[in-house]
Amino acid sequence: MEFMKERNSSQPSVESNNVEEWSSRKSAELYGINYWGSQYFRINETGHVEVTPEGPKGAPLDLFHLVEDLRERGIRVPILLRFPDIVRSRVELLNRCFSKAIEDYKYGAKYCGVYPIKVNQQRHLVEEIVEFGHNHLVGLEAGSKPELMVCLAMMDTPGALIICNGFKDEDYIEMALISQKLGRNTIIVVDRYSELKTIIEAGKRLDIKPKIGFRTKLNTPSAGRWAETAGAKSKFGLSPSEIVRGIDYLRSENALSCLELLHFHVGSQVPSIQSIKAAIKEGARVYTELCAMGATMKYIDVGGGLGVDYDGSGRSDSSTNYSEQEYANDIVATLQSICDEKKLPHPNIVTESGRALVAHSSLLVFDVLGTNEVQIRTPQPPNMEKDSRLVQDLWEIFKSVNKENINEYYNDLIEKRRDTLQLFTYGVLSLEQRAKAEDLYWAIATKMHDLSRKHKDAEHIYDALEQELSDTYFCNFSVFQSLPDSWALGQVFPVMPIHKLTERPDRRVTLVDLTCDSDGHLSRFIDAETGGEQKYLEVHSLQPGQNYYLGVFIAGAYQEILGDMHNLFGDTDAVHITMTEHGTYNVEHVVEGDSVRDVLAYVEYQKSELLERVRKATELSISGGNISRSEARLLLELYEKGLNGYTYLRENL
Ligand SMILES: *Cc1c(COP(=O)(O)O)cnc(C)c1O
Repeated sequence: MEFMKERNSSQPSVESNNVEEWSSRKSAELYGINYWGSQYFRINETGHVEVTPEGPKGAPLDLFHLVEDLRERGIRVPILLRFPDIVRSRVELLNRCFSKAIEDYKYGAKYCGVYPIKVNQQRHLVEEIVEFGHNHLVGLEAGSKPELMVCLAMMDTPGALIICNGFKDEDYIEMALISQKLGRNTIIVVDRYSELKTIIEAGKRLDIKPKIGFRTKLNTPSAGRWAETAGAKSKFGLSPSEIVRGIDYLRSENALSCLELLHFHVGSQVPSIQSIKAAIKEGARVYTELCAMGATMKYIDVGGGLGVDYDGSGRSDSSTNYSEQEYANDIVATLQSICDEKKLPHPNIVTESGRALVAHSSLLVFDVLGTNEVQIRTPQPPNMEKDSRLVQDLWEIFKSVNKENINEYYNDLIEKRRDTLQLFTYGVLSLEQRAKAEDLYWAIATKMHDLSRKHKDAEHIYDALEQELSDTYFCNFSVFQSLPDSWALGQVFPVMPIHKLTERPDRRVTLVDLTCDSDGHLSRFIDAETGGEQKYLEVHSLQPGQNYYLGVFIAGAYQEILGDMHNLFGDTDAVHITMTEHGTYNVEHVVEGDSVRDVLAYVEYQKSELLERVRKATELSISGGNISRSEARLLLELYEKGLNGYTYLRENL
């Protein structure tokens, strides 16, 4: 079955110190791309990452060539690449899985997916979902008044749902009610009990029969990183007693037939199918009780939570232990059996999957600006006459260390390192000698690190050197702007070079961003070998005059809208790439990122005022004789150009 996960429990092992040729296949194993790539991403023969936006059978697109092509067109790195064809493929996948489940189980009602726009409200994306979802009646979900306003304007599929969640005032409710007159199937979900009365009263005032949903709190414990958003203490939802009261109230208002939908939400990125099943069971029971109390229900809305496999492990919080098909099967089968038991008609099934629809569709590409390297593989041999005793001793260790004597030499190394600093402080060792000693220290550490890998008696050495030996790559992006969940929640995204993948990666690095914040880094990566995490990324050495591009994948859900302007780094350039019938691509919708002027305006600095102040300062300096007229002009030109420019760095080429 297409897209079903095929996991290989015995993943091939990656050995860093073997001498075989490197290959694209080895890179694929190292970065785990075939596990998390969901058949949209793989490595081609030339060692570049390849995207197949239409799914595994669609035309491939070489990511490295694409980035170079975009740069020739003046689009700047960091670039956010969006692939509408992936959105289409995900919309179709989810609908196909539910259709199949409904057919296989002979379920007696329909599937109606809705897209919660909070996951990514970008206009083009919402347009695409409405367009690609037209035949499947895909609807939209709003979590606030501004989002409802987007949904009302963008949704034009006859009969598709608009689900209204979140905090609601009268305006929100009235707008939702009147939208029925435009032919919209708008259901207002009661998230807090007090909303019910407001809805009924607004309906009377406008003479429009409301379509109402109840959101229930579930008691079933959820799982994963977002588990607290569900459960009895969750922000939204009615308790059992509020539901019972709500039914009585609706009956007393002669409005029980307004209640059409039961909603619940188990939290986002649920890693285990068991938690999803347990939640559906509880929700389905609430549903049958509502029917028993006389409500004529049409829909059950199981919310979001369908997870995305960010690391390919199948067992972490960043992964899922189920496929989309299993998700659909379990929902359909559970609802069916609970309804059949109570001899009730099957409800139409609504899901509010957001992450699962859009996460794969964007990826961020940035370049590496420079490095701070500590690993040394080929140190300079010492000069036997001139170099100090300490340097000679370190050289001895470097030459002699092997798997057998590593423990002994490791202790020596620690001692020599201490000596180096002491001798320098006492004035015995020159700075030049200290430099030689330190270079040798790093060379020995690098060698010991290799030797201790998978060495049972030297695990402590491996662990100790692991972090110390990773280099730093300075990267042209901001974690806070482009990957906020990595910073805020410690979420792991797949990161890897998009080219050079036929070459053996020879460096281990952590990535730091452009911000001055010590939190502005990526230092948790997928360890495809064990299915866990590691603190470094294996990459290639930087070559002078050559760009080195890294990609962060599966970045389409939540990141864009949560991103902030820490250190005034703004939105990146973004492009939409669509595939043509001929297997080539079109660059559609280039969305220019923020200029410096744009981000400054957010914090109330106006271009003209800034320029004027700098100009005045130059006038003063000119009259004081501290700056020449041409220097002043140069400064003003640079300043103005800077205001109009990108907030990220121009590459060094
Ligand atoms: C956030 C949210 C969703 C989306 O959840 P995903 O896990 O991204 O699919 C759906 N429904 C509600 C009510 C939400 O708050």
